[in-house]
Amino acid sequence: MVNKSLSETELLKFGTIGNLSQKAEALLNEQKSNWELLQANFIGLRKVRTKLFTLDNFNVKVQFNPTRITSTAAKVDAKSIAERKCFLCLENLPAPQKGILYKNDYIILCNPFPIFEQHLTIPNINHIPQNIEKHFLDMLDLTFDLKDNFLCFITVQSVELLHRIIFIFKLELKIWFQLKAITKT
Ligand SMILES: [Zn+2]
Repeated sequence: MVNKSLSETELLKFGTIGNLSQKAEALLNEQKSNWELLQANFIGLRKVRTKLFTLDNFNVKVQFNPTRITSTAAKVDAKSIAERKCFLCLENLPAPQKGILYKNDYIILCNPFPIFEQHLTIPNINHIPQNIEKHFLDMLDLTFDLKDNFLCFITVQSVELLHRIIFIFKLELKIWFQLKAITKT
């Protein structure tokens, strides 16, 4: 298998690595230093325009982010996907893209087309169908392990897309423990 994992020694040059959340921040720092595309797109993020819409009982913040067009306009029909290399398979990642292995099943990567100042994408390392049900416990564990600096949500763009499993979202700890208990039963 292609080794895309940064060692702790390498991560340590870019931040503290006391827990996974800190390691992920060190990874972001390393990638911003060594991956030109990522660096450019994080700089582009500063030009993002936002607008707040106030509805009845809640607010919606809308973001205009032109650098996302490459990602959001990508064709995700079965034919288009079959015709291009899977951009989440380790062997197809750009040379400078590195990550942190998680549970030997996932790799924590930086998203080269960010919508947040700290934007990770965490695919399964295997080219498998998206399926939240089979990976829900992993998602909870990851949410817990990253909770200091990250919130997790899941993006499922298309059932045709493979191994985009995770997740950048934040749960209240009480809810996290409830979900963990439910999932184990
Ligand atoms: Zn793949």
